[in-house]
Amino acid sequence: MIGNPFTVEGEWLKAALHTHTTRSDGELDPEAHVRHHEWMGFDVCAITDHWTLTSVPSTRDCLVITGAELAADPPAPPAATGAHRDMELLAIGIGELPEDPGGDRSSWRPIDNYLFKTFPDLATAARYVVAQGGVCFVAHPYWSGLPLEAILTADGVHGLEVFNASAERENGRGDSSYVWDQALEHGMRLWGFATDDCHYPGFDLGDAWTMVRAPERSEAAVLEALRSGHTYASTGPSIHAIEIDGEAIEVRCSPARAVWLMSRYETGWSVLAGRRGRMDGARILERDDRGLIVRARFTPPAGLPYRRLVVEDPKGARAWTNPI
Ligand SMILES: [Zn+2]
Repeated sequence: MIGNPFTVEGEWLKAALHTHTTRSDGELDPEAHVRHHEWMGFDVCAITDHWTLTSVPSTRDCLVITGAELAADPPAPPAATGAHRDMELLAIGIGELPEDPGGDRSSWRPIDNYLFKTFPDLATAARYVVAQGGVCFVAHPYWSGLPLEAILTADGVHGLEVFNASAERENGRGDSSYVWDQALEHGMRLWGFATDDCHYPGFDLGDAWTMVRAPERSEAAVLEALRSGHTYASTGPSIHAIEIDGEAIEVRCSPARAVWLMSRYETGWSVLAGRRGRMDGARILERDDRGLIVRARFTPPAGLPYRRLVVEDPKGARAWTNPI
């Protein structure tokens, strides 16, 4: 489904793609917010205040990209519980916001210091972002309670948050792998992004990020990499290399207790550091001196709808590749 980002010319940049400042509901003013990201080792910081564009200069080591967190009306009547489902969308690399995005005004409301508005649906929102050369992805599907049907309406979005650390901290709904897999099985091409959704840097900065393979540290190069899926998502582990040889996939990673090759329902392979395993199609090629996996090879059969890798370190932190 994707060119292999591990063989693309360039360097890996550590990116925060979902962050908030005092311009919406965040804690720090934009300049301090960027400084804290730079101190934490981020190469890229996208500021995505709710319905607000925040532009500040890049610093020496941190490229700042202007974005926003937008929203769309839910596709179906509210859930049986009567709860209203907000569908939120990250828009990265945009320069304007619509006065009237065209959604249902009865759900618009002031929140903190911004006005929450909606597009009529995710596809309309995506068209608006893409027309400006921006990149967009669905925010925290699990936290928002989005059903697969909602994701399937999102024509034109580039991906979704496979992991949102803020949601994980709040109510344990950080990992949206389930709906991502369902959408991939339906043939959608969606990239998986991880974010910390940072609001209060001393509390929530740096728990999850997206690694971006870009030929240079420029906004245009980063946006093109996001669009192309030249990324992987992480809450800890690093993925050093992926080699594809026919159906076989070989991965090199930071020391892991488990590596999975995932595909459609009931289908996948694993290597586990503590066990020998009983499945064909997966093999540990190399361990570190603690016995953790640093190189593994998978040989799945042909004809799978998609394949993606997940690496888990000894503490349970994970990294997710895009569909290969
Ligand atoms: Zn947010």
